[in-house]
Amino acid sequence: MDHDDLRDWSKRAADWAHGYHAGLRDRPVRAPLVPGAVLGTLPPEPPEVAEPMEAIFADFEALLPGITHWQHPRFFAYFPANAAPASMLAEQLANAIAAQGMIWQTSPALTELEQGMIRWLTQALGLPGEFTGTIHDSATTATLSAVLTMRERALDWKGLTEGLSGSPRLRLYASAETHSSVDKAARLAGVGQDNLVKVPTGSDLSMKPGALAGAIAADRAAGYLPIGVILCAGGTSVGAFDRMADCIAVAKAQGLPVHVDAAWAGSAMICPEFRGLWAGVEEADSIVFNPHKWLGAQFDCAVQFLRDPTPQVRTLGLRPAYLETAGREEIVNFNEWTVPLGRRFRALKLWFTLRAYGLEGLRARIRNHVAWAHDAADAIRDIPGISMITEPSLSLFTFSLNSDEATARLLERINNDGRIYLTPTRHGGRLVIRMQVGSFDCTRDDVLLAPKVIRDLMG
Ligand SMILES: *Cc1c(COP(=O)(O)O)cnc(C)c1O
Repeated sequence: MDHDDLRDWSKRAADWAHGYHAGLRDRPVRAPLVPGAVLGTLPPEPPEVAEPMEAIFADFEALLPGITHWQHPRFFAYFPANAAPASMLAEQLANAIAAQGMIWQTSPALTELEQGMIRWLTQALGLPGEFTGTIHDSATTATLSAVLTMRERALDWKGLTEGLSGSPRLRLYASAETHSSVDKAARLAGVGQDNLVKVPTGSDLSMKPGALAGAIAADRAAGYLPIGVILCAGGTSVGAFDRMADCIAVAKAQGLPVHVDAAWAGSAMICPEFRGLWAGVEEADSIVFNPHKWLGAQFDCAVQFLRDPTPQVRTLGLRPAYLETAGREEIVNFNEWTVPLGRRFRALKLWFTLRAYGLEGLRARIRNHVAWAHDAADAIRDIPGISMITEPSLSLFTFSLNSDEATARLLERINNDGRIYLTPTRHGGRLVIRMQVGSFDCTRDDVLLAPKVIRDLMG
């Protein structure tokens, strides 16, 4: 295949994509396959001889039964991973250029567009102008970067050179509502999962500020070294929010930095009426949110805002001789802010998406999703036998039947039916079904089909 073939096949792929998206409502949302069904169709050995693209493309189409359709308008599982059409176009162009933005010099436009998008997004989310930031692949990597920085700040940057042996036991604080990426960061940063203290939450599912203060004081008295606090703004399980202002005040009084995980809910903060949910966030040191979830800038795109990038750059930044940009001290080399060296052109899809829909267009979608989630929750609440377990947090709510077995059976029937896709979690010791509304192209009818499907299957 050469670039002339690529032009023809790109046109064919564009037509294919158009038909695929137009026909999504007719497909079951979740892949119905059994394990091994795709792997079993592949020849065990790679081809020695070039194959015709026609055959490769046909085999690609045959993969479709093994695809769960994340862009399906009735995908209500997990959180969304929205790919707005403008974002897809930007990704095509980024793929065509295939530039690598590890330092400013390797493509100044990549770095400077990224800086510009961070500035736009701080304004869009109502954050103070002093925040800067960068784009990571995922919230997991951003949180890992924040935790590594917390560790090094606490160790006065000795861990970077001397390692962790001989250092006191480190302690990190979060509630049980925070995402497992925080546990992973504790593992990878050498803090140890046992030293991630899960601070108790109150009935509002926020970490109790008094319990946080008590845990830090007790750890200090026992000779541990507290390094930082991670707060959750929109937890993955049921959408819990820590009370930012109160918890950050405790952390600051203890001299500890704060990282806020708003991976999903951050997108909603483009709507001023939702910002009360994270009031006080402007005092955080680091905030992550995923435009690839609810803003339409497709996977992968995780934005980390930093009040002061210096500690993170000191932790992650290396400047070997082969990456020097002579005489250019004022420029930013974003690889020094993130874990990997190489960097894709992720800012382009943000630029296209923000411009092609405008903040008004993006706000309208999020407002609809939140309103329709409330409508769906009200309709599901009325179905005999169903209990609402958590009320909508933005566009996420949970419900269950009277036993875990009955809930599991209902969920299996729903997902085998294929018209909608829902996923489980556990809350208060019981199995519950989560429903979130966030698909970029869903309509109110799509959302209200969910209670209808559930009612049918409860029959
Ligand atoms: C999705 C999610 C994450 C993990 O996101 P990745 O970008 O896939 O690493 C972390 N925290 C919360 C609250 C999330 O919803």
